Amino acid sequence: MSIIEFHKTSKAFGPLTVLDEVDLSIDAGEVVVLVGPSGSGKSTLLRCINALETITGGDLIVDGLSVKGNARQLREIRQEAGMVFQQFNLFPQLTALKNVAFGPRQVRHLSQSEAESVARDLLKKVGLEDKADHLPSELSGGQQQRVAIARALAVKPKVMLFDEPTSALDPELKHEVLSVMQQLAEEGMTMVVVTHEMAFAKKVGSRLIFMEHGKIAVDGNPRDVIDNPPNDRMKDFLHHVE
Ligand code: ADP
Ligand code: MG
Repeated sequence: MSIIEFHKTSKAFGPLTVLDEVDLSIDAGEVVVLVGPSGSGKSTLLRCINALETITGGDLIVDGLSVKGNARQLREIRQEAGMVFQQFNLFPQLTALKNVAFGPRQVRHLSQSEAESVARDLLKKVGLEDKADHLPSELSGGQQQRVAIARALAVKPKVMLFDEPTSALDPELKHEVLSVMQQLAEEGMTMVVVTHEMAFAKKVGSRLIFMEHGKIAVDGNPRDVIDNPPNDRMKDFLHHVE
């Protein structure tokens, strides 16, 4: 069984169909890069995986649990699928360490000192052990995003979802975030990444999906489909991002 299984999954907002009978299976350890024009449904697809959106048709199974399950199952799905957003979304009044310790405290019910020990290890992993006591406002965008990645990892998810994690960063800060993501991928984390970073897609992605109007239009090896886009819309799209 795959870790994520879309079965004719649809999502509509009123009359607007945003995901249109999507069939997609993602195996453990895959790094799926998701691209497509603005409004094609990429963020919605990610948000359905961790049950931030309610699907309106078909089914979606995450680590054996349906997103149509009860509240307890939805909480479990949200723990299994960590999410990193374009706008870091850190708690502004909490230090980096306390931001990362929050999940283990609240979700895994560790003591404050156990949670902070987990958080310290994760800050070290993302290269920020010396920033533990800094507030988000005292960190660069790239550092804040690395704290956000550590925070998502702190509840030990099986899948990491990234929604344009470097789009809000200056070019010189993107690299430090992408290299943390690459390291995670190399450790075998299952990842679904919405990004316009095609060099990252080629180097780290195991699979590239091009979405259009809520459907998967292209699904293939990143190097193959980026170098030889199988349709004109994807060719146009790559023209705009590269
Ligand atoms: P992408 O991430 O590919 O740019 P989204 O998944 O954010 O696309 O959005 C797909 C479509 O769904 C867009 O037309 C967007 O306006 C619409 N949409 C997204 N969220 C909502 C919402 N909460 N209510 C109504 N429409 C929404
Ligand atoms: Mg989006």
